[in-house]
Amino acid sequence: MIDPWGRMIDYLRISVTDRCDLRCRYCRPGERTPPLPRSRILRFDEIEAVARAAIRLGVKKIRLTGGEPLMRADLGTLVGMLASIYGLRDLAMTTNGLRLAAHAAGLAAAGLRRVNVSLDAMDPGRFAAITGGGDVRRVLEGIDAARRHGLEPVKLNCVVSASVDEPDARDVAWFARREGLQARFIRQMDLAHGRFSRVEGGQGGDCPRCTRLRLTADGRVRPCLFSDLSFDVRELGPEEALERAAARKPRAGSACTSREIHSIGG
Ligand code: SAM
Repeated sequence: MIDPWGRMIDYLRISVTDRCDLRCRYCRPGERTPPLPRSRILRFDEIEAVARAAIRLGVKKIRLTGGEPLMRADLGTLVGMLASIYGLRDLAMTTNGLRLAAHAAGLAAAGLRRVNVSLDAMDPGRFAAITGGGDVRRVLEGIDAARRHGLEPVKLNCVVSASVDEPDARDVAWFARREGLQARFIRQMDLAHGRFSRVEGGQGGDCPRCTRLRLTADGRVRPCLFSDLSFDVRELGPEEALERAAARKPRAGSACTSREIHSIGG
């Protein structure tokens, strides 16, 4: 697939669930949105069908995300189904790391290549405050397990409110240097006011070089995180939904009026 702006679409991010075991304050501001009914969440065979169609159409990289992907029961089975598709070159996952220590071995054996772990603070109190009660020690154990089982390179995603010089971000940068891990610092987007858009100065949202599509947990292909356009795979079939999304990919994102970054998949 080539979009109208000449970008070769080679990357699909798949949100496997809208559920999460953390409540990061920047991700779910305000009142809690109810979880999607289970019948609306794509089954593994449906996700596999979308992945197969995407790979036929030129996708080479898939990243699993959420919600928290490790909240999806039996994720290793899905990883195995996707890893065996001919033509896929890279299968990665973005996770909060809380459940990674328990799952790293199984996921690596099933064919997952590497992980990005979200880590916004090193101090246990600060981490708990940002994430709504998360235990940073479990995340560090998860990172360790991922490395031991070859899910490398482990990359860290750190959301900063204003600048990479914030104390929490500096701690994460220091930890990354010490451990030889890559860290990316992403400027916080404001989801609190019913719409979000790109923030300048962070490392997220590089529109000219964006070659990705997103599959939401409830089966909509979104051409851009910063737009409301979406194409339903159950309604249109995977191929049609993917092709329409690629054909409508905006040159650059503007704004998304959905608050649900957790079901779109960050
Ligand atoms: N649960 C997984 C995790 O924690 O990595 C995957 C999903 S999470 C929504 C993916 C990424 O979205 C995380 O790195 C998170 O930091 C980012 N994110 C969520 N809300 C954001 C916001 N308001 N601004 C910037 N990044 C955000």
